[in-house]
Amino acid sequence: MEPRPAPPSVPRILVVEDEPDIAALIAYQLTREGFRVETASSGDQALTAVNREVPDLVVLDRMLPGLSGDEVLRSLRSEVATQSLPVLVLTAKREQEDRIQGLELGADDYLTKPFSPRELVLRVQSILRRSDQAGSEPGGRLLRAGPLALDVAAHQVSLNGEELNLTPTEFRLLQALLERRGRTQSRRQLLERAWDVESEVSERIQTRTVDMHIRRLRSKLGAIGDWVETVRGFGYRIKVPEREDG
Ligand code: CA
Repeated sequence: MEPRPAPPSVPRILVVEDEPDIAALIAYQLTREGFRVETASSGDQALTAVNREVPDLVVLDRMLPGLSGDEVLRSLRSEVATQSLPVLVLTAKREQEDRIQGLELGADDYLTKPFSPRELVLRVQSILRRSDQAGSEPGGRLLRAGPLALDVAAHQVSLNGEELNLTPTEFRLLQALLERRGRTQSRRQLLERAWDVESEVSERIQTRTVDMHIRRLRSKLGAIGDWVETVRGFGYRIKVPEREDG
């Protein structure tokens, strides 16, 4: 199954807020300004949504049930795929030290509650403008691991500067592995990320499908094929030897 292509000109915003009224108000205002909006009402939901598809910006409330906003932010900053994802943090007025903490954790901006919806829109627009100008690669992301480089937007992979000829599925599989470098992902997770399906297929077919594509990917990676490690009983991860990681 091919991934759903998103209209490139409409930024996607993930709003993470557990208070339904505030979440609805923010979503309404941003939608009216032409953004595509998705909402999450907990930190866990937010990370799930981001793992499914990385948005262009996250509006993140600090006070959430379960996983706090700070923990969500820390987690986003620790992943290659979301290291530079713009985040606007919402804080309660009484939390005087929030600003400093939020910015230390890597928020791009913060807004104190109560805020006017207009102010929120202006901040969002300003952060997106800044991140556009930051001169990242066109379309966004270049994932690197030693001599291996994967250009997400251009759909190209090169090894020591030579282009590798991967199928779209192999490409997405490698992308999924590189985005969570060093971390083990189950076959099911890889299936969902690389095939873009909420997998209902049986364990046996999942295993066969993923294993087959991993084998092909390893063989195309040649000398560095063994960087794609099998973690017995769990799944796969890509592990780059430290000396290679320039
Ligand atoms: Ca809240």
